[in-house]
Amino acid sequence: MKETKLENNRETTSLDFIRTIIEEDIKNNKNQGRVHTRFPPEPNGYLHIGHAKSICLNFKLAAQYGGLCNLRFDDTNPSKEEAEYVSSIKEDVRWLGFDWEDREYYASDYFEKLHEYAVQLIKMNKAFICDLNADEIREHRGTLTEPGKESPYRNRSVEESLSLFEKMRAGKFPDGSRTLRAKIDMAAPNLNMRDPVIYRILHATHHRTGDKWCIYPMYDWAHGQSDSLEGITHSICTLEFEDHRPLYDWFIQQLDIFPSRQIEFARLNLTYTILSKRKLLRLVDEGHMAGWNDPRMPTISGLRRRGYTPESIRDFCNRIGLAKRESMVEIELLEHCLREDMNKRALRVMAVLRPLKIIIDNYPEGKVEELDAENNPEDSSMGTRKIPFSREIYIELDDFHLDPPKKFFRLSPGREVRLKHAYYIKCTDVVKDKNTGEIKELHCSYDPETRGGWSKDGRKVRGTLHWVSAAPAIRAEVRLYDKLFIKKDPADTMEGEDFISCINPESLTTLESCLIEPSLARAAPGCRYQFLRKGYFCVDPNSTPNKLVFNRTVSLRDTWARVQKAMKKKRLLKGIQNA
Ligand code: ATP
Ligand code: MG
Repeated sequence: MKETKLENNRETTSLDFIRTIIEEDIKNNKNQGRVHTRFPPEPNGYLHIGHAKSICLNFKLAAQYGGLCNLRFDDTNPSKEEAEYVSSIKEDVRWLGFDWEDREYYASDYFEKLHEYAVQLIKMNKAFICDLNADEIREHRGTLTEPGKESPYRNRSVEESLSLFEKMRAGKFPDGSRTLRAKIDMAAPNLNMRDPVIYRILHATHHRTGDKWCIYPMYDWAHGQSDSLEGITHSICTLEFEDHRPLYDWFIQQLDIFPSRQIEFARLNLTYTILSKRKLLRLVDEGHMAGWNDPRMPTISGLRRRGYTPESIRDFCNRIGLAKRESMVEIELLEHCLREDMNKRALRVMAVLRPLKIIIDNYPEGKVEELDAENNPEDSSMGTRKIPFSREIYIELDDFHLDPPKKFFRLSPGREVRLKHAYYIKCTDVVKDKNTGEIKELHCSYDPETRGGWSKDGRKVRGTLHWVSAAPAIRAEVRLYDKLFIKKDPADTMEGEDFISCINPESLTTLESCLIEPSLARAAPGCRYQFLRKGYFCVDPNSTPNKLVFNRTVSLRDTWARVQKAMKKKRLLKGIQNA
């Protein structure tokens, strides 16, 4: 494979099949070498990580080949919520780092033009008004193995169709009573070519055109022509539109308008995730999620709230590449891209999620030392900060074991461990609740000769624990997330089964009494940190200095290498079986 350097973002991408087509077109001076793409969302939901793939592709192609990319809302389907979706889509595309400048378009801007095209088609005797209802049209349609039947209205005169179309527009007929259909071929092997409906009657208020229209173009009639009107050279879409391409090309030919070239690629599917707006809407509407931006949602707004960076999402989209066949991408890859990015940028701090109190008996009461702590071992330019140390501290409850199993190197009675950035401590006593037997607090001694966490006599300890000083620690709520679904492919359900039943009951764990080091007292929403040994965290948008809330973006354990290894093994085994 050839390698191309992207001038704008210094990323290296191999020449995939779409870039091969574009470079060939440029070489042949097709469209005077112009490259113009678009991202065409339907404003009927929030964008998800699958859309991010399409956004990155379209905007990056334009940037790479000195072209332009439009943002076009395919709003042919009037519905009340659309305005909210439009603004969320714009916010998400911008956040991902792309700019459509002044090229914000709406299919609804073209309603007049699309209507004109329809009249033109009727006049050419290539479209007719059909009085069959939706069920009857379906019955006439035939199947993959049987040809369809022609509508009894197919041969009505051009004049009659024109006059009926005018009356349709004027609101003389009820919803669903008539349609405008293209006159192509009821025996065509491609069902999309069997006299498809191109206009329907729908007395509904549109978010932009209000009550101006009571007939609306079908998506198939609007999409290709919108591309053409915008001079889109390469109209990139997902595979499900492959069978629609002949229809779009037929429309373009009949109307003799600018021929956009449609190219299909495989949509992104992600393990343990659902990428369908209709299904995501159910998660929200039925109250399974707190909203479209619930940090468990695979939406761009959910990922943002969870703490994902635009850079990590773009990196992911870059790495998964382009294919012509559907496949499933492991969610571990997305998390891996995130960890790589966070590792570079996140400030290391200490937070104790499930606190266990320690009293250091030989440390003077009332004394507070300010110890130096590095902010990021990956980047010394991020400097150091001071953290307070005192007689009472907290460690993580599961960093102590009364009766430690073999490979447990953390704290236990009589054992010495290192407190990160601080001292060696040794557990001298365990205080239990008289009634429940639960461990209440530990008593320890510290070695003043180990300041900074290093012993002068070369004495080694196996465990290093994070901790916070009791008095100045700040209380915070921490939300831990796990996979949203327990099934690798939640869309692949058995009959009668619903993807809702695959929701992971442990996808959210809320810990309300976590203790954070005081340097985070003013942590603003959106700030990202690594809590040592606990993962990467992001301050929730609803967090306030009085009630700090952190979302765990991702844990520290990178499982991508393991997943890759397992995949390789599977492939090898398959190879052996096939041999
Ligand atoms: P959904 O299936 O989630 O409802 P959609 O295709 O109906 O998605 P659109 O708003 O029509 O959503 O999509 C806008 C663009 O994003 C289209 O060009 C579509 O092909 C692309 N797209 C949608 N889902 C994916 C995906 N999973 N992977 C890649 N591209 C996608
Ligand atoms: Mg769609």
